[in-house]
Amino acid sequence: MTASEAPAVSVTGTRLPSTPPLALLLDVDGPIASPVTRDVKPDIIGDLVALAAAGIPVIFNTGRSDAFIREQVMEPMLAAGIPDGTVIHAVCEKGAVWFSYTAAGPGPVYVDRELAVPAAYGDDIRRLVAEDYSAHMFFDETKRAMVSVEQHIEVASADYLAEQKLFDADAMELMARHGLGVVRLGHHAPDSDDDVDYRVDPTIISTDIESVRLGKDLGASRAVELLAAQGITPEAWRTVGDSRTDYAMADWLHHNDHPVKHVDVRPADGVPEKPYDILTARDLGLSDSVIHDDAGGAFLRSWREALGA
Ligand SMILES: [Mg+2]
Repeated sequence: MTASEAPAVSVTGTRLPSTPPLALLLDVDGPIASPVTRDVKPDIIGDLVALAAAGIPVIFNTGRSDAFIREQVMEPMLAAGIPDGTVIHAVCEKGAVWFSYTAAGPGPVYVDRELAVPAAYGDDIRRLVAEDYSAHMFFDETKRAMVSVEQHIEVASADYLAEQKLFDADAMELMARHGLGVVRLGHHAPDSDDDVDYRVDPTIISTDIESVRLGKDLGASRAVELLAAQGITPEAWRTVGDSRTDYAMADWLHHNDHPVKHVDVRPADGVPEKPYDILTARDLGLSDSVIHDDAGGAFLRSWREALGA
């Protein structure tokens, strides 16, 4: 047996293939969790468990907190039954936080403190939301490095998006008051040394305020490191997302010579020109109206079938 054929030993002592044919790097909101209900359909949980049990690395790469992943993804997967020796990794808060879980539950949560928004600023945002914005949005108390303010599910999207613009402007102004350089979309407000350290990133259901060093590319690099620590080098990667920023996963992998194809489950924004293959629901013979977790679920099912998992 050559070295590359030798099975790696996982952190739990069970043997895993060291070169699985595929590894999955998954954005959560959109392709896995419904952006409407924000939970995960049982079929998707079942397919994630089956793929992981077949030795396909399943790694989440999300802006969500570790608490959200535990509740919406880990607990349903545990309830569905993860076999002993299977390790699932979750890179949370766009790379600032990560943890792994097995049938025994979650391991320790790691936080890169250098990437955290100053606590005093977070406190001011919490107060701002409570005083002026609590009818439309709430402060996410589960974040450890980012500051996130999210739409109440019962508020209409158009109402939220209008209010979000006002909130984002206030959040930018607070950054200046704290002497922190910040950027939002094309708007650039540097601090006195002309450094931009933080960004305000509005999504369709939240505003994230975060270090500019966070991103889905950082999450991808952590994913490769987490597998390398287990002795796992996938033959190919599939990244899945619903936003333009999710392409950064595939960009990073491709740039670092890991074969990758990216699945876009909400291609209505337009599919950019990239040096790697991009897949949409159409590639599965589905209509363009199949998006979000319906498209994400269809791809998981297609990989499960192709791998006989
Ligand atoms: Mg998403």
